[in-house]
Amino acid sequence: MAIPKPKLPGFLQGMAVTARTAKETMFPDGMKNPIPQPSKGAATVQYPHVKEAPAPRARGVISLQEDNCTSCMLCARECPDWCIYIEAHKTLAPPRRAGGKPRSVNTLDRFDIDYSLCMYCGICVEVCPFEALYWSPEYEYSEVRIADLLHDKERLGEWFETVPEFEPYEAGSEAKQKKVSRKEAK
Ligand code: SF4
Ligand code: SF4
Repeated sequence: MAIPKPKLPGFLQGMAVTARTAKETMFPDGMKNPIPQPSKGAATVQYPHVKEAPAPRARGVISLQEDNCTSCMLCARECPDWCIYIEAHKTLAPPRRAGGKPRSVNTLDRFDIDYSLCMYCGICVEVCPFEALYWSPEYEYSEVRIADLLHDKERLGEWFETVPEFEPYEAGSEAKQKKVSRKEAK
């Protein structure tokens, strides 16, 4: 019967990883150059003096295309943090065909996202059936007052300027036909 090797306690393993990372940060060239160079070896940057470009599809902030939103409330119902607030009222729109009845449509009064509660899961963007929500990689919107992290529909609409263009689907992937194209959304 094989005798199991004794394992290092987790605490000591963690300390070993920390020591190795500190050594790689301070001496990125190894012992060939024993002068500490933390700015060369660091994996981080000195934000806000140095800024890294996020990936184009990074989850920075959510943008709303108000014209596409039908106030269906699906995003608000699915949001696990309950941080989307929607209010709307019914109005009558002209009939689609001549001689038809006026249509009852929802008009959006309020669409707020509270980013002090949002956990950036992306469920709201995924479930929206009308292409009204998009991710933008923009991340610089910290606030001194937490209440200012509540973005209303005007502010959410302004983020659309920072939404990157769609990338073509990968060859062989099954493209899902959307009901509302992004071109119409503009
Ligand atoms: S990203 Fe997630 S937590 Fe944030 S508003 Fe959307 S559903 Fe809610
Ligand atoms: S953003 Fe989309 S899911 Fe949310 S209320 Fe508007 S249409 Fe519905």
